[in-house]
Amino acid sequence: MRQKFIFVTGGVVSSLGKGIAASSIGALLESRGLNITIKKLDPYINVDPGTMNPFQHGEVFVTEDGAETDLDLGHYERFTTAAFSRKCNFTTGQVYDAVISRERKGEYLGGTVQVIPHITDEIKNRILDVDEGIDVVIVEIGGTVGDIEGLPFLEAIRQLRNDLGKENSLFVHLTLVPFIKTADEMKTKPTQHSVNELRRIGIQPDILLCRTERQLSQGLKDKISLFCNVEKDAVITAKDAEIIYDVPVAFHNEGLDEKITQSLNIWAKKPDLSKWEEIGDAIKHPKKEVDIALVGKYVKLKDSYKSLNEALVHGGIANSCKVNVRYVDSEDIEKGITADLFNVDGILVPGGFGDRGIEGKINAIEHAREKKIPFLGLCLGMQLAVVEIGRHLAGCKDANSCEFNEKTPFPLIYLIEEFVDRENQVQTRDQYSDKGGTMRLGAYPCVLKPGTLAHKAYEKEIVQERHRHRYEFNIKYREQLEKAGMIVSGISPDGTLVEIIEMKGHPWFLGCQFHPEFKSKPFDPHPLFGDFIKASLKRRQEKLRCKKK
Ligand code: GLN
Repeated sequence: MRQKFIFVTGGVVSSLGKGIAASSIGALLESRGLNITIKKLDPYINVDPGTMNPFQHGEVFVTEDGAETDLDLGHYERFTTAAFSRKCNFTTGQVYDAVISRERKGEYLGGTVQVIPHITDEIKNRILDVDEGIDVVIVEIGGTVGDIEGLPFLEAIRQLRNDLGKENSLFVHLTLVPFIKTADEMKTKPTQHSVNELRRIGIQPDILLCRTERQLSQGLKDKISLFCNVEKDAVITAKDAEIIYDVPVAFHNEGLDEKITQSLNIWAKKPDLSKWEEIGDAIKHPKKEVDIALVGKYVKLKDSYKSLNEALVHGGIANSCKVNVRYVDSEDIEKGITADLFNVDGILVPGGFGDRGIEGKINAIEHAREKKIPFLGLCLGMQLAVVEIGRHLAGCKDANSCEFNEKTPFPLIYLIEEFVDRENQVQTRDQYSDKGGTMRLGAYPCVLKPGTLAHKAYEKEIVQERHRHRYEFNIKYREQLEKAGMIVSGISPDGTLVEIIEMKGHPWFLGCQFHPEFKSKPFDPHPLFGDFIKASLKRRQEKLRCKKK
């Protein structure tokens, strides 16, 4: 079968959930036995999404092959079983960068280089660059129709409709149908305007996903169909969902996957959505609950810990429990405000960059270690756990990571100036290197030590986990720290990079140099999150039992 393409655009306002919509379409098609991939096209000019501010832009998601991408790729991975790579996300900046460097090399032979066809061709080529074996490619165009930046992308997909033909391409448009309280009515005008805007540039949507607070009546669907020139059964209610994992089933109940397969003339089996129903049920009807403190710097912006929040939800699913996340600002801990840490069942210190709030995080780790509260440290969280153990148990006074104090007498976490990347290329870096391009990125193997918490969680000898960091555990100090009770439970196959540490005599204390949250899925919760939540639950139950006595 030739690949089919579904283009997902958004209108009226941003934040309607295009990423979730594209992911849910992917989930539905997978449940019908199709092989899918999803691409995100970002209209901004940044060439390297890895250097973007999480305050503005949310989390940077890392793929298996080490691409730093938009957080929507995280949704794609969580909703599907497909493998996503650097081909699955590109920005306007990267497109222009490629065209301009070709121009600099003289490849256009002095011809005029223009948006149409040069930029649009580059966009089309990147969309069409798909691995073997994929049946359907879902392409999400970032931004909102009407944005100046998005125009070349929309022009490219307009052209692709002609290149590929109607049976091989489909335009899905996500719009808003607001409920206006004073009129006690749902309004279709914004949708009409948005579709008009698309038609003005030559795109007639085939399917409309109408984001609403309430179900659209047939009358309203008929009206939208008439004014927007789409078939009646192509107007889909995309009602606000209680949880995101309900969306695939909700779309199916509206007939979306049936309409898509019909329109693209795909013969596919009926979907099996039981896994989504089970996930919805597990999240909505938990049997227990736990309170987890998330100690970080970006706590006010939940999008910057998107994958982490989801992985915690998944850890809850694995234990039939609800995970209440308490966001604790590490700078508050520095000011002595620690009340939030006292009543939790588990403490998590996530990844991060820069020295703000570092000492507060170290205090939180010390608290977790001393009070035997389950602790999970991710990347920076692991590095700071090493510093904490070094300072307080291994006699390394003023120990630190060189990221925060270059002159520390005990550089327990340091910069390896020369390292071998995933492609077996030797990379060099120092503290002044470019922010982009000098990190250990993507999946690396890690060998687990039998009998440790890590080994118990994974039930495997060797695992692949994703990295995004510059600094590493300083292997010189391994022995000294092990004598103080630290356990190295995961290490690179060559024995030079410490990937997981634990603490002797503590019920559950684990720090990992990688980001397990990137690989967690609702239907396949990450084992470290599963076991962290399990340990937290156990502590909570023990606490309750003590109180009763
Ligand atoms: N800042 C640390 C480093 O670069 C940790 C990075 C992270 O937590 N992702 O090594």
